[in-house]
Amino acid sequence: MRLLLVEDEPELRDITVRRLRSEGYTIDGCGDGLSALDYAYAAEYDAIILDIMLPEMDGLEVLKRLRQEGSSVPVLLLTARDSIEDRVKGLDAGADDYLVKPFSFAELTARIRALTRRKPADINSDNLKLADLDMDLNARVVRRGDKIIILTQREFALLEVLLRNKEIVLTRERIEQQIYDFGFEGGSNVIDVYIRYLRKKIDQDFDLKLIHTVRGTGYVLRAGD
Ligand code: CA
Repeated sequence: MRLLLVEDEPELRDITVRRLRSEGYTIDGCGDGLSALDYAYAAEYDAIILDIMLPEMDGLEVLKRLRQEGSSVPVLLLTARDSIEDRVKGLDAGADDYLVKPFSFAELTARIRALTRRKPADINSDNLKLADLDMDLNARVVRRGDKIIILTQREFALLEVLLRNKEIVLTRERIEQQIYDFGFEGGSNVIDVYIRYLRKKIDQDFDLKLIHTVRGTGYVLRAGD
């Protein structure tokens, strides 16, 4: 699950990014409207948390441009005060929800969960499956058959990407785009390392292997060769 937070108050931005990251979200943060558009065009987000009062270009204008470009990414607007006028303008500009500052972290995460649930069921199903592998995204539990498999946050994110794209060959670059925040300094073989960890947990003790290497290209998750 990848989020973008656009907030020009550095402290609020940093603490929110850190807390959402600790909840298991992949999140990018930026502090002005023009950067927000750059980020939004460069990566695919599951939701954008967008402050209205921003330097360079305000949040409402960012939102209008995104919608004009045909983006349907869920947007949660942050408003500094409970102004009905701002809310109406925001909803008119294509916002999905809004949150009045100051907000509690619990409220923010509840809104994010609601927003990301509204996506079409096939993209955002709460359970991802392949053969006897089952991933429950809400409970964050992975099983193969009856066996519960404990994954780290990164392994969980990697498996989610593989499962959402099952039977599709993914390049390392494509996988990296999906699971790392911008600015992550990984070596060239960092995906290979995580795939190795994941194989140990997902495939090693089972006859049916699910993770396959496609030589010269990348990886694919499928049941059978
Ligand atoms: Ca602001």
